[in-house]
Amino acid sequence: MDSIGKSKERCAAPSMTEAARTAPRAPGVLAGKVALITGGNRGIGKAIALRLAQLGADVAICGRDREALRAAAGELAAHGVRVHAQPADVTSSSEVEALVKASQAALGGIAILVNNAGMGLFGPLQEKSEQEWDSVMNTNLKSVFLVSRAVIPGMVQRKSGDIINISSLAGKNTFAGGAVYCASKWGLQGLSGCMAEDLRGYGIRVSAVCPGSVFTEFSGTGRKDPGKVLSADDVAHAVAMIATQGPRSFLSEVHLRPLSKT
Ligand code: NDP
Repeated sequence: MDSIGKSKERCAAPSMTEAARTAPRAPGVLAGKVALITGGNRGIGKAIALRLAQLGADVAICGRDREALRAAAGELAAHGVRVHAQPADVTSSSEVEALVKASQAALGGIAILVNNAGMGLFGPLQEKSEQEWDSVMNTNLKSVFLVSRAVIPGMVQRKSGDIINISSLAGKNTFAGGAVYCASKWGLQGLSGCMAEDLRGYGIRVSAVCPGSVFTEFSGTGRKDPGKVLSADDVAHAVAMIATQGPRSFLSEVHLRPLSKT
């Protein structure tokens, strides 16, 4: 298993399992639940992982940047929850399958899946290459198919689960320069809606969170004024709201805008 904190050559810090043993166990409404957050090593995904850990969930995160993963795993373990951090490219079916298998072996069945990993690419369609199109579609859309496909059988078996897809208001609107990104997020909206219908009979909720602009390193969006956009914590709050909703309700889609426009 290629897991940060378990692989000897990459592990200078104590293993995540060890960190969890030495920190006090966090009580919380999500205690006993396991959450997998893709792209949990920075930006919105890290904020979501931290929020779910604060609520007591054990968390698995992935990303390609090992240093960022290691740092995020340390922050998460400080909340006293069990943490599994594994380098994985969510566009690769073999890496996704290994990620889900190892996360479940380390922490148990995944109750909450947050499909967050994504990338931005903006500008007129005629200036984009085929490789750029593939890269955006694979990262923002195919990855959700791959990760969900690997997680769903366990949820079906347990007849419960939350799958929360981090979409965008760009999946509801169109704008100049947004063609490739919007196409990926409109696709994700369709995928989310159909998955929700396929799975609700098994007690599994599939939701889409659609934020407007968020203050992160997100590529291609230019400089942002943090006072005029959402924070990663705002998105994490919406995800926590979905993950802690009443057992018989189904919050299917959340649109998130900054309160202030000025
Ligand atoms: P960041 O660029 O800050 O973070 C992207 C995250 O995705 C990183 O953790 C990155 O990890 C991971 N990631 C990207 N590609 C892959 C891959 N192939 N395999 C595994 N992990 C990957 O972006 P944000 O946090 O802002 O974005 C998160 C999500 O929120 C995205 O889906 C985005 O579309 C959505 N969103 C963002 C908005 C914004 O304004 N920021 C607005 C609306 C929606 P690593 O690089 O280590 O692989």
